Amino acid sequence: MHHRPSPSHGPQEPLFGLDEMPRSPAAEPAPSARAFRDSEQARRLLAIREIHAEPAAAASPRGRQVLARFPGARLIEVDSHWRIPELHGNEGSADDWMRIKRRTLVLGVKKTLTTRPNGRSADWIAPGPSNGCALSCVYCYVPRRKGFANPITVFTNIDRILAHLGRHVAAQGRKPEPNQCDPEAWVYDIGENGDCAVDALVCDNTADLVRAFRDWPTAKASFATKFVNPDLLELDPRGRTRVRFSVMPADDSRLLDLRTSPVDRRIAAAADFLDAGYEVHFNLSPVVVRPGWQDAWAQLLRHMDDVLPTRVKRQARAEVIMLTHNAGLHEVNLRWHPRGEDVLWQPAVQQTKRSQNGDLNLRYRDDVKRRALADLRGLVARHAPWLGVRYAF
Ligand code: SF4
Repeated sequence: MHHRPSPSHGPQEPLFGLDEMPRSPAAEPAPSARAFRDSEQARRLLAIREIHAEPAAAASPRGRQVLARFPGARLIEVDSHWRIPELHGNEGSADDWMRIKRRTLVLGVKKTLTTRPNGRSADWIAPGPSNGCALSCVYCYVPRRKGFANPITVFTNIDRILAHLGRHVAAQGRKPEPNQCDPEAWVYDIGENGDCAVDALVCDNTADLVRAFRDWPTAKASFATKFVNPDLLELDPRGRTRVRFSVMPADDSRLLDLRTSPVDRRIAAAADFLDAGYEVHFNLSPVVVRPGWQDAWAQLLRHMDDVLPTRVKRQARAEVIMLTHNAGLHEVNLRWHPRGEDVLWQPAVQQTKRSQNGDLNLRYRDDVKRRALADLRGLVARHAPWLGVRYAF
């Protein structure tokens, strides 16, 4: 597939100005004085200056909504959202990636809509409304496929994604029996390749999904997040969306979860999200084995036990996911964030596995992982006994 800007036009040269774009007033976001996404804080995370767009994506209602939100941004036409070398390339300094993540968006049309069975985090992986992320977790697997800057690509054909999901939900009927994903509902992960709470700073894709799921009584949306976006509290999910706040010890998070909300903020937000109609779970992930990791997790779990109200505890469940690392990612990280690699890259306790696409992935050795999972389960049982572990991997 051809994944570069039209060869006759340099990437810096807009093909059509914003003034020429048809603007439908209906496509403009409703003005809301209280919207977090219009706040200074949100702008520190995302201050969009450039929007690389497939023409059909820019012309769509969702595309026009995004363009209207960032009227000062320069529009640059691209043939395909998938590979834009000057955005997605692995070269260059991390400063460039952070700048790109903050200032750049991509608009594309998602061509292939498939829902895949999963069985761990969710029953199904839905076609996501985005690919890429404005946050910058050092261990993130998403950029491995796309290059390391990997800013948010918004898929503008959200209507087709919703129609696809509606058909899929209808075809499943009722869930025949409970499983660890959920006792009653078919759970659809809607955020496999990004962070839906961050996407909600850009457009209404996340809101549209949350609203669609509240009308599907046999299904539930689910997404993991490391970002507290108060705008999500306005969406009235009526229990049909599960937010999974990812947590890890604060020291690990400060080293590894760049640009995210601090872990204690994610935990503190849990009650607000529950009261707003979400189900709130936690991802204990990734678990990074390092000297002192058990004490750090014990402290985190005690903190959760101290600050979370009973109503959150009563419905909370957790996933435990041990770190997976990657040889290529290690090489890249060494160039800009070697301190993170001191804890992530531990070949003495990790084993390698070649993935289907040829990548060399590292996971903890079976014996190390078995012991670590048993330790962590023990810590949960001791310090946060209310937190049922849905699965540990
Ligand atoms: S929040 Fe998720 S998608 Fe975004 S960088 Fe972190 S791990 Fe990757």
